[in-house]
Amino acid sequence: MLVVVAHPDDPEYGLSAAVKHWTSAGVEVSYLLLTHGEAGISTLVPEETGPLRAAEQRAACTAVGVGDLVILNHPDSMLVYGLDLRLDIAREIRRVKPDAVVTASFEVEAYGGFNQADHRVAGLAALDATRDAGNPWAHRGLLGSEQPWNVDQFLIFGADDPNVGLPVSRGCVDAAIESLRCHSAYLAALPGHPAPEDLIPAALRGPAELFPDPGVEFAVNFTMHSI
Ligand SMILES: [Zn+2]
Repeated sequence: MLVVVAHPDDPEYGLSAAVKHWTSAGVEVSYLLLTHGEAGISTLVPEETGPLRAAEQRAACTAVGVGDLVILNHPDSMLVYGLDLRLDIAREIRRVKPDAVVTASFEVEAYGGFNQADHRVAGLAALDATRDAGNPWAHRGLLGSEQPWNVDQFLIFGADDPNVGLPVSRGCVDAAIESLRCHSAYLAALPGHPAPEDLIPAALRGPAELFPDPGVEFAVNFTMHSI
């Protein structure tokens, strides 16, 4: 699996519980972040915030069993949809060779409000780059020696119309809580941010209610499409 998101902490709002489920089952999961999130702390200059948030993301990856983390240098809060971004993502897809690419909602409205600009760009670019990766004539001459790679499935976390659900254990929920806690400096700069131990279980109980089996307490839901 390859998870493609805009910022450090983006996987940590429920998706990382699914990641822990997969890595515990022996699935290799890689993360590709398009920015360092350097514009995310208003009281700290980007030159200090970027490395700090990258370190927090590395710790968060460890919490859910992810060893392969790549962070690109596209500009946080000013991510631009374009062929250069698609090229960079397609290159990583050809390197990682995932069966599935996972991203987060890139709708204009998401998570109970307006989605963040970088999120809209990241998800759409991830989708288009997934197709680029399998096309031998896309970005011709710019993707180096990597061979085209066809991804089977594209999963969107946080979409309003999920079509698959993954029940996750309390252990996976606890790992997801820990992964969010790893972003401590970032969270400390967000006044009123709920505690991870309150936020994550609540976020994963809602999707579980869609299951007919009352024994499912926590779940992560996705919209999944064949590529
Ligand atoms: Zn984000």
